[in-house]
Amino acid sequence: MTTPETSSRPGIVNVIERNMCVGCGACGVATGGRIPVTIRPRGYYEADIAGASPADLATASRVCPFTNESEDEDTVAHRLFPDLPKDGRIGHHRSLFAGRVADDGEIPFSSSGGLTSWTASRLLERGLIDGVIHVGNVEQPMFGYVVSTTIGELRDGRKSKYYPATFDEVLRGIRGDGRRYAFIGIPCAVKALRHVTEQDSTLRDQIAFCLGIVCGHLKTMAYPESFAWQLGIAPDELETVDFRIKDPSLTSRQYKFGARAKGSDRFEEAQTLSLVGGSWGHAVFQLNACNYCDDVFAETADVVFGDAWLSKYEIDWRGTNVVVTRNEVIDEILRAGAQVGQITLEELDPDSVAKTQAGNYRHRRDGLAVRLADDDADGSWRPDKRVKPGYDHVSEERVGLIRNRRNLSEVSQTAFADAKEARDLNVYLNAIKPLIDSYQSQTKMTFVTRVRNKIQRESWKLIRKVSNR
Ligand SMILES: Cc1cc2nc3c(=O)[nH]c(=O)nc-3n(C[C@H](O)[C@H](O)[C@H](O)COP(=O)(O)OP(=O)(O)OC[C@H]3O[C@@H](n4cnc5c(N)ncnc54)[C@H](O)[C@@H]3O)c2cc1C
Ligand code: SF4
Ligand code: SF4
Repeated sequence: MTTPETSSRPGIVNVIERNMCVGCGACGVATGGRIPVTIRPRGYYEADIAGASPADLATASRVCPFTNESEDEDTVAHRLFPDLPKDGRIGHHRSLFAGRVADDGEIPFSSSGGLTSWTASRLLERGLIDGVIHVGNVEQPMFGYVVSTTIGELRDGRKSKYYPATFDEVLRGIRGDGRRYAFIGIPCAVKALRHVTEQDSTLRDQIAFCLGIVCGHLKTMAYPESFAWQLGIAPDELETVDFRIKDPSLTSRQYKFGARAKGSDRFEEAQTLSLVGGSWGHAVFQLNACNYCDDVFAETADVVFGDAWLSKYEIDWRGTNVVVTRNEVIDEILRAGAQVGQITLEELDPDSVAKTQAGNYRHRRDGLAVRLADDDADGSWRPDKRVKPGYDHVSEERVGLIRNRRNLSEVSQTAFADAKEARDLNVYLNAIKPLIDSYQSQTKMTFVTRVRNKIQRESWKLIRKVSNR
């Protein structure tokens, strides 16, 4: 809800006050670093606007992905891709694919089908860019935005980092260096970057391609710490983690989490789903910003890659990407790769593409409408979204579930901070387990749904076995 107070001040002030900053770094870039983006005690980035001038607050508000002064995804995407058909769920699209890299020796080193790194590598190889701006391994914290200028460096940064990252310093570092780059980011980061480049012609000329990755929500830095601790590695002993370890004997959804302690060369591993908070549906450590996001398929990116979560692909341990292209050059690169057998591609229709992210739409469209209505009911400021506030589209039970999920995210963060202070993981587990159990009992699939899903998976396994003979 907008009040005279919230409408008369720069939007970024409302964003910070309501804890909706995702830490992207766009405000830092747009103000030449005068709005620093720093790590908060709970383990996420947030813009520090304490010393910002009114002019900088106004500039920042025009690039922030959560203010009403910045353009929404529809407006940005329409400017970028005016001639492409549009689907309300996935945005504009040129081609829709499911696919993966063909080399089974390479596939374990990517999270899904490996097409994100493969495509970025081809852009480098063809000399279309000089470098790739993406989230790789850094010393402190564990992961962050880096620039890779060789295929080797790019390969070292493969796999998803379910971890906060800010592009502020890296973007300011490359600005004006006369080189061209591809940027890889989650939807809000790509949108924020588009806002920056719309105002900054130097960066606009330098960012030649934006590669998006589908995003369910972002986690705080406590997320990998909570898993590592469950594997016996306390937060201050943790060196690094691997969020997506594949196992050829399991399905692609049953990936593992691995953690390595300082001074050790061994990863402790467990199936992510077996860890407390391991289901994405539970939304532990989710940033509050993600409660206000409706962009699933990075609608402002030139291409977007996600996991093809459909039974047909899920049963394959190697992982399969769902891909939405919006750029002619990238489209051609992918098709050429399939022709020479470097990658496999299968055309999909819009319904199948949307179906790969069914849970995401429940959270980001149906759930968002409820959260907006709740904010309006208690008079809290919230950004205008493409989704309209309301309760009528879901059952009362579902409304309760959406609220419980939001509460789970919040409690996980406070309880884990308490656990770290007490140096006792049980402080977190005892607080969060009952909430997860109760949430789980509300979301239990019906017997019929479980049987239907099982039949689908088993049928696809059989088809695969027969066609491999
Ligand atoms: C926070 C987050 C949430 C996600 N949620 C979903 C979801 O709900 N549904 C879904 O289908 N897919 C989701 N994904 C995407 C999925 O995990 C894979 O990243 C995607 O399918 C690409 O896989 P790949 O094998 O092609 O990539 P890889 O070949 O493994 O390469 C990944 C590339 O992305 C870069 N990268 C990794 N993490 C980040 C990051 N945080 N920000 C910017 N660049 C990064 C890496 O540096 C690398 O260049 C999410 C990813 C992230 C980071
Ligand atoms: S631009 Fe990004 S970092 Fe800055 S306030 Fe908005 S969300 Fe936060
Ligand atoms: S859910 Fe939306 S706001 Fe949250 S990290 Fe993903 S793209 Fe950004």
